[in-house]
Amino acid sequence: MAKQRTLSIIKPDATSRNLCGKILNHFEEAGLSIVAARMMTLTPEQAGQFYIIHKDRPFYGELIDYMCSGRVLVSVLEGEDAVNCNRTLMGATDPKKADKGTIRALYAESIAANAVHGSDSAENAAVEIALFFPELK
Ligand code: ADP
Ligand code: MG
Repeated sequence: MAKQRTLSIIKPDATSRNLCGKILNHFEEAGLSIVAARMMTLTPEQAGQFYIIHKDRPFYGELIDYMCSGRVLVSVLEGEDAVNCNRTLMGATDPKKADKGTIRALYAESIAANAVHGSDSAENAAVEIALFFPELK
């Protein structure tokens, strides 16, 4: 499979516990390269736009508040099958169901504060990357 890109976000629960280095290490150890990265605090508008697909879910308001509650490290990861590779490294949304050794099993606090975001398809990865890194070619 050809090289692919995906968007990763290290969420506020993880940045606040100084886990960026440990989490980025999972990506690099798996052969994913960090081709862009930005530490930032999302505005409610940015978080709301980013998670617009979940706007009708009951946890949407809580999700936006949480994503704006501290710094996030947004990055673009590149490598073979990057989207699926990152999803495998992350583990299931609910850390109680995440496979042993995955980022969420190791570091997530709850189904809401679950340490990382990763694009779920190549199509969504392109949209998410353009949202944060429009300058990236
Ligand atoms: P994933 O991040 O694994 O792709 P989803 O796209 O389904 O998961 O959900 C987006 C984010 O919304 C999750 O990562 C988590 O932060 C939050 N979330 C998902 N389900 C719940 C829930 N039942 N209660 C609270 N927050 C949730
Ligand atoms: Mg998702």
